[in-house]
Amino acid sequence: MRIERDLARLDDPYDVIVVGGGITGVCVARETAGRGLRTLLIDKGDFGHGTSSATSKYIHGGIRYLETYQFGVVRESLRERRVLALAAPHLVSQQRFLMPAWKWSKPPTALIGAGVGLYAALGFDRNRYMPEAMKIPLPRWIPRQRLLRDVPWLDADQLQGAFAYHDTFNTHPERLLLEFLKSAVAAGAVALNHVEATGFVFADEHHADGSMVVRGVQVTDRLTGQRHAVRGRAVVNAGGPWMDLVLRHLQRPLGVKVNRSKGVHLLTSPVGGTGVTDTVFARARSGHHVIVSPWQGYSFIGPTDTAVDLAPDAVGVDHDDVELILSTVNDTISNGFPKLTEADIEGTTVGIRPLIVDESKDSYTTSRRHELYDHAPAGVRHLWSIGGGKWTTGRALGEETALALVKSDALDGAAVRAFDSRRLAVHSSFGWAHDPQPYFEAVLRTRAELGLDDATRVHLARLYGTEHSRVLDLVERTPQLAQRLSDDPRRLDIAAQAAYAVTEESACTLADVLDRRLVIGTLGRVSRAEVERVAVVVGPLLGWSIEQTSAAVEAELGRRAAIEIGWRRATV
Ligand SMILES: Cc1cc2nc3c(=O)[nH]c(=O)nc-3n(C[C@H](O)[C@H](O)[C@H](O)COP(=O)(O)OP(=O)(O)OC[C@H]3O[C@@H](n4cnc5c(N)ncnc54)[C@H](O)[C@@H]3O)c2cc1C
Repeated sequence: MRIERDLARLDDPYDVIVVGGGITGVCVARETAGRGLRTLLIDKGDFGHGTSSATSKYIHGGIRYLETYQFGVVRESLRERRVLALAAPHLVSQQRFLMPAWKWSKPPTALIGAGVGLYAALGFDRNRYMPEAMKIPLPRWIPRQRLLRDVPWLDADQLQGAFAYHDTFNTHPERLLLEFLKSAVAAGAVALNHVEATGFVFADEHHADGSMVVRGVQVTDRLTGQRHAVRGRAVVNAGGPWMDLVLRHLQRPLGVKVNRSKGVHLLTSPVGGTGVTDTVFARARSGHHVIVSPWQGYSFIGPTDTAVDLAPDAVGVDHDDVELILSTVNDTISNGFPKLTEADIEGTTVGIRPLIVDESKDSYTTSRRHELYDHAPAGVRHLWSIGGGKWTTGRALGEETALALVKSDALDGAAVRAFDSRRLAVHSSFGWAHDPQPYFEAVLRTRAELGLDDATRVHLARLYGTEHSRVLDLVERTPQLAQRLSDDPRRLDIAAQAAYAVTEESACTLADVLDRRLVIGTLGRVSRAEVERVAVVVGPLLGWSIEQTSAAVEAELGRRAAIEIGWRRATV
């Protein structure tokens, strides 16, 4: 499915305009377009470039929320974990978690066990419709010796064992988000990245009750500076951590706030080596928790959870974030293993959780539930904002929003068709509730003449699902596109993917391609050679001259270096 950045579509009238192309906005667009509503989705940056690409990479129930009695959130998330695993099995996969218990652990071992048991109970329907290979087993206790065999780096002193339970990996959140987006576009939505909502359009007349009536949004194309007024009957503000900044354009207070919490992860050399396949979810002596996930030959470690007052665009990783993660994880590493240092860090991610405002003492304990705010009671009709939520619950939130819009006077009884995404595969899934493994094996038996190695073929099938054959078509037409973009054997992306990103997936910048269409940009430092290889492919497709291509390469390398300067003390 081609996502076409056709700005002429800004002249069309829409039933629903969604501001924000993170997972929340994308899911809203999928649900409204699926119901036959004319839908426009815009994002001021790229699709998924905000919080949605900076997660811990889990589709999960959120076991730790049981500590703050968020049973409703956990139950909904566990239900959605199953819905997403069934919808996109090529990008959502089971992962074993180990929650270690030491004699000094707080909460104590028995209570951790009770929590794990409750988590399993709340996921009572976890295997409904699941093919055998995707079934999630019940949790169990792993005794100390066995645990140290599986995770030799764990601090053995006073270690009792660990509770093993399963959640699911969101292996490449950027690609899964694109799958949801393609589903929305396939259903008729228009999706435009690099288009910012810079104001609202209002009806000439106020409503009979004195309210202002929103009739669309003012937008600016961030690539050309061009402005447009777009007409829409209902507007949904899915700006995530920018939600209140979008509302500022109304220039009147609506009483809705967002509670911003910064979350950082580190990508490091693999703790304990590449043989460790379990995710460790530990609480250190300091009381901070840390998740150490084996991912793509690295360890992905985090998250932090720190309240921030800054606008999301001004937030970066700083040295304190790095220190906090290193000290927490080092607290759980055995003395026989080298402690992690800054030199082990290959990359970082940062995202801002758009939390709701509640009575909690800090962002760590703030509820992860979501809210749909209808601004009519505050005097602005036909405008909704979304607060809170998780990646995992994006689909449910999209559904709830679409149902509210359909019932509202904004759409004035618009005819909608039946749509139920609870049992619907995402756009290029190999099938709803299908074990992807046989498909991955089948791709190894086809199109051998293209000369791609097995790892690359499976990589493409995993990233693109059924659309991987279209990436292979590019290789067939232009064999040079089979070339790897990196000399690092862990980086499997090939040149055809860069071309596909531009022609089919609306990538407009090198960052769009590297960070959200390919995997390479999510694997830490990207070398000059890697950026240049991507630029050589995408420059002509984007209509760049040789000078513009070199300038884009320098700008991208500069952008990436600036991120690192924010936190790295030593020169590596
Ligand atoms: C460190 C961390 C770890 C997490 N881990 C997990 C996890 O493992 N599992 C999980 O389920 N959840 C996780 N979450 C939560 C989850 O990532 C977020 O709840 C979710 O991604 C929020 O999505 P969103 O669409 O609301 O926001 P965003 O993804 O930030 O999207 C908002 C979008 O709005 C756009 N926008 C803003 N202003 C405008 C404008 N004026 N015009 C047009 N567009 C605009 C932005 O560009 C942005 O793309 C984690 C969050 C963090 C920070």
